[in-house]
Amino acid sequence: MSPPLADQMPLSRQQVLELLGGSDDDWLFSRARLATELAFGDQVFMRGIVEFSNHCRNDCHYCGLRSANREVVRYRLSHNQILEAADQVASFGMGTLVLQSGDDTKFRCDDITQLIHQINAKHKLAITLSLGDRSLEELKAWREAGADRYLLKMETFNRRLFAESRPKANFDERLDRLKGIQALGYQTGCGIITDLPGMTDEILAQDIIELTRLKLDMIACGPFVAHPQTPMALSGNGCVLKSHRVSAILRLMNPGANIPATSSLEALEPGARALALLRGCNVVMPSFTPQHVFSKYDIYPGKNAAKAFLRERLEVIRNQIKQHGLEPSSARGDSRSH
Ligand code: SAM
Repeated sequence: MSPPLADQMPLSRQQVLELLGGSDDDWLFSRARLATELAFGDQVFMRGIVEFSNHCRNDCHYCGLRSANREVVRYRLSHNQILEAADQVASFGMGTLVLQSGDDTKFRCDDITQLIHQINAKHKLAITLSLGDRSLEELKAWREAGADRYLLKMETFNRRLFAESRPKANFDERLDRLKGIQALGYQTGCGIITDLPGMTDEILAQDIIELTRLKLDMIACGPFVAHPQTPMALSGNGCVLKSHRVSAILRLMNPGANIPATSSLEALEPGARALALLRGCNVVMPSFTPQHVFSKYDIYPGKNAAKAFLRERLEVIRNQIKQHGLEPSSARGDSRSH
């Protein structure tokens, strides 16, 4: 039987604002750790992410994969290469496979459906999809084929900031899609980029409140990292400590959610991803993208930048987790939100 969850802490906007400002980090981080421990013990769920295409029709101003970036070398993995990567995810003891790409409609509904069927026939992996804005028909077909989870980040719930940073996207459509995903029975994930240029603590507090209102299964927050080939190249990088505060606050308000420690933390400060596991996070997502295209999934500097091969990178992450007194877990790691 699972242990009881910590009660959701109903923080007011004013309390969230004060915590974001650093009013009591010791209290915040220790309470967040306690709430994480009550929900998931000392387990850190390992998810293997396969970034199978870096083609993208969107033009998000923060992202290196944006369609207007002509310098990025584009790739698409073949069906068999994706299956082989899924085999590796299973053989290296991950409980979940995350399939992610840019918004690449060259992968048609049936392509993804077939992949889900083939992976489920061979492995006992939970399958998370993160393919961007796809139609409800497609999302329904993939759910029926056996996909378990879908991740679609709003990046911010502030309409002005959303419009400025995602010029080709529609705020209401994305939010409706997210609710559609929930209605289809997916374990649903959303999230934000902290310190997106133009973001204030007021906006961040509202983002935290909106994320909590959605009663999500997965909540991802990671700091903004400036990419040189984007319109936000000259904006300052996000603050690691601020991002840690956000994940800790989110944990208190969403005790049963899976909250990943993102690679953007690690890109800004080595060790920051593992430290996030003591500050509300309970998931890590090492990349299983094949070596020949690994570095081309260049969302931001430092993403997939490690020179080491997969086995060694996994070893590093596992050791970091253990050094914090936590245990890397091969479990599926379903959310405890519902
Ligand atoms: N295309 C899909 C979508 O938009 O939902 C999924 C893949 S998208 C490339 C992966 C995530 O990377 C985004 O949701 C965003 O949060 C994050 N990201 C992109 N550029 C970033 C940056 N410069 N700094 C931090 N995070 C970034």
